Amino acid sequence: MDKIALIGGTGLYKLDFIDNVEKLKIETHYGETEVRKATVQDREIYFMARHGIDHRLPPHLINYRSNIAALKVLEVEMALSTAAVGSLCEEMPPGTLVVIDQFMDLTKSRDITYYDGTDLPVVHTDFTEPYCPELRQLLIDECQRNGGEFRKQGTYVTTEGPRFETPAEIKALSFLGGELVGMTNVPEVILSREAGICYATLALVTNFAAGISPHFLTHEEVLQVMKEQSRRVNDIFHSCILNFPRETNCRCREAGKYFKIDGKVTNDN
Ligand SMILES: [Zn+2]
Repeated sequence: MDKIALIGGTGLYKLDFIDNVEKLKIETHYGETEVRKATVQDREIYFMARHGIDHRLPPHLINYRSNIAALKVLEVEMALSTAAVGSLCEEMPPGTLVVIDQFMDLTKSRDITYYDGTDLPVVHTDFTEPYCPELRQLLIDECQRNGGEFRKQGTYVTTEGPRFETPAEIKALSFLGGELVGMTNVPEVILSREAGICYATLALVTNFAAGISPHFLTHEEVLQVMKEQSRRVNDIFHSCILNFPRETNCRCREAGKYFKIDGKVTNDN
C-alpha cells in the first residue's frame, strides 16, 4: 500500500477529508514524534502537525530530524507539506499559493543534516533540484484544477525566527533573489532528501514581508489568511492524495541510500 505523509504548517492542524484517525507515537534515535494515521481509498496517509496540534513549538525548536526519521520508520516514501510565507514580490500577494522550487538557508541554530559524521557518515547530497519534480508537478496540476491564484515557482528563504524579519533584511534577501520568506522549510526539505523521501511544499502567502507590508506584521494576520484559504489547501491536498503517482522516476530515493534508521511505533489512542 502507498504511504504518503502530509505535513501541516501554521494554521493547518488537521485535514477535513481525514477522519477515523489512529494516533501513533514514533520513537527514534533523534526523539519522539506524533503522527495521525488514516486510510484514503487504498492509501495510508500520515498527518503531522509540524508545530504540534496546539502550535506549541516555535520554528527553531521543532525536532525536524525526529519528524522525518519517524516518517522513514513508517516507510513513507512521499511527503507534501504546507508553509505560511511572507512575500517579497508584488506579484505574489496574500492568498497566492506557490509551488516553491528553490530555497536559501539563513537558519542559525538547527540540526540541518543526518550526515554529520556521528551516527551516519559524511555525505554531500545534491540539491540542484531541491524539491521532488514529480510531486511539484502534481501540486501544479491540482492547483490548476482547483483554480485561484497560484505560482509554479518561487524561491523560499528560511530565516531563524521566531521574530519576523526587519525591512533591511527583507531588502537584502530580495536583492539576493529571495521571493518568499518563512521559518520552517529548512531543514525539513534537506532531511527529507537525505532520507530519500520525495518531498514538495505548497506555500501560502499570508502577508507581505516587513517594509513591503503597509502595516506591522502579526501572527494573527497569518492565521487569518490561513483560515480563509484552508478549504482550498484541503481540497488540493485531497485531490493530490487521489492522484499521487504510483511510481516515480525521480532521483529522490537514490539520495537516501546511506540513510539508516530504526524506531518503535506505538498506538497512542
Ligand atoms: Zn521524488
